[in-house]
Amino acid sequence: MTDYKWRHSPLLSSSLIIIILEPYPTFIFLIFFKINNKIMAKSRSTPIHLIVMLLVTYFLCTVGKSNALACPLPPELATKLHVDQVAVDSASSDYGNIVHSKPAAVLYPSSIEDIQRLVRSSYNCPIPFGISVRGNGHSVNGQDMARDGVVVDMKSLRENKHGIRIRVYKNHVFADVGGEQLWIDVLHTTAAQGLSPVSWTDFLYLSVGGTLSNAGISGQTFLHGPQISNVYELDVITGNGELVTCSKRNNSDLFDSVLGGLGQFGIITRARIALRSAPAKVRWSRAFYSNFSGFIRDQERIARGSQRDVANYLEGSLVLDNGTPTEWITSFFPPALLPRIMSLVKKHGIIYCLELTKYYFLDDIASEIDQDLQQVFKDFAHVPGFIDAKFVSHQDFLTRVPNVENESLTHPWQNLFIPKSRISDFNSGVLREIVLKRNITTGPVLFYPLNRHKWDAKSSAVIPDEEIFYTTSFLHTGGIDNWQVYDDQNKAVVRFCEEAGIKIVKYLADYTTIEEWIKHFGSKWTTFRERKAQYDPKNILSPGQKIFNGI
Ligand code: FAD
Repeated sequence: MTDYKWRHSPLLSSSLIIIILEPYPTFIFLIFFKINNKIMAKSRSTPIHLIVMLLVTYFLCTVGKSNALACPLPPELATKLHVDQVAVDSASSDYGNIVHSKPAAVLYPSSIEDIQRLVRSSYNCPIPFGISVRGNGHSVNGQDMARDGVVVDMKSLRENKHGIRIRVYKNHVFADVGGEQLWIDVLHTTAAQGLSPVSWTDFLYLSVGGTLSNAGISGQTFLHGPQISNVYELDVITGNGELVTCSKRNNSDLFDSVLGGLGQFGIITRARIALRSAPAKVRWSRAFYSNFSGFIRDQERIARGSQRDVANYLEGSLVLDNGTPTEWITSFFPPALLPRIMSLVKKHGIIYCLELTKYYFLDDIASEIDQDLQQVFKDFAHVPGFIDAKFVSHQDFLTRVPNVENESLTHPWQNLFIPKSRISDFNSGVLREIVLKRNITTGPVLFYPLNRHKWDAKSSAVIPDEEIFYTTSFLHTGGIDNWQVYDDQNKAVVRFCEEAGIKIVKYLADYTTIEEWIKHFGSKWTTFRERKAQYDPKNILSPGQKIFNGI
């Protein structure tokens, strides 16, 4: 040991700091130190010996122990950080039920400060640990997991004694909403004041932070843009634990980055959401098309604006010949029409459903409503007679997708954006060649157009380069043992598009290599990477997205 000046070695000093942070590593280090001294007494000691010893000690300390638990954590979190099997298992899976990854612990915060404390602990730890936010666990590819790190389960914030953090500012027509809140609760709270957010998702049991970190799209997007285009301000905990308020005017870089930012730059703890008057009722119509070109022509007429005043919501979907009619059809159409719809599907293999709604307010006159209805479908190319409409309350319409959970199912989903210029190629190569011929598709297949100009180009969300682009979602439901069949089909779709030069963009992307992410972000990558270095320099946040973990 005599010729090794350990006091002056930065490597050794920093290693010692790592090791003395906890009694367990220190104990192991001391044993090795003793053994080392005995060995070294017989031979010459070198710095290499000591470094090897430190590495072995560190390895032994980390086996069976993750980074997260090796770091000193503040006493305030002691009762809120759970390492038991139930907690760890609950955060090791998501709605997809395909990816499984265990965290070291789960934090059940009771305040925003708890989340800040956790992030600061990781930031100050010599080896920071990953932190993922579980809004409501509805990612499908493990995006909300943190292997060996900590998952923050936002459910405890929703359920804590301070109650629902949704505050409606009626005069300003916006609401301040906790990032942990579910959209279903935002709906109920705002509706009680006669108001409503303008842009929604189809399914409302998703957290506000969860959809804003992606985009949040549905049938209102063509008109109002995605949910990320309808936010005025955010509170965000960045990767060093700081709570920052941001908007287009203040800290705009952070604001833009976080929206659609896949949780990479900060944890959203509050969002100021745009509201409007809630309609009294909604006329909800569906019409079937046997002809793809007529279907997209009519959808685009609405999306482009020539028919915009006729619809507040526009979607579309495919009806495939996979046995019995789905609940989606049976609940909407009169039983007498169902055999006719199914024979149309049998004849064409795929038929296309255009779906739209028009909102009505209390002072709308009944005769005008009838005229509207006739006018909407006047020149449309749907199959004559294959149309139906009904009136429902605004809340009934928005809650049309029920909250069903079944742990024995898997959800190998794929969501794509397709540029309009190649939509016919997509129909012939994907819908007819792959989807129809394989004939395995289960669950809804959504298909409808969006307008690029309704998306803020500065947000982190990535979309195709054309004004009109389509979104399609293959929402397969599989079993535990057969999800690969659907996954294969999803991959075949992407492969076809690559080979045919169709520049699709994945929504809710699930890439695993840095090269794929760089390609995904395209011209936005440089900014994305720079902002990551600025707001989460130690790569702590959202490791489940698998973007920066390997860098
Ligand atoms: P979680 O799965 O809990 O979290 C996923 C990721 O979101 C996190 O890892 C993190 O990266 C990020 N995140 C979550 N909370 C925060 C936060 N507070 N701050 C920062 N980042 C955060 N999407 C649509 O656009 N339109 C739809 O109509 C739609 N319908 C869906 C229906 C179902 C049944 C399912 C399963 C998904 C649907 N999605 C839809 C996708 C959904 O928007 C995303 O999967 C979303 O992330 C799920 O929200 P969550 O709260 O469950 O997120």
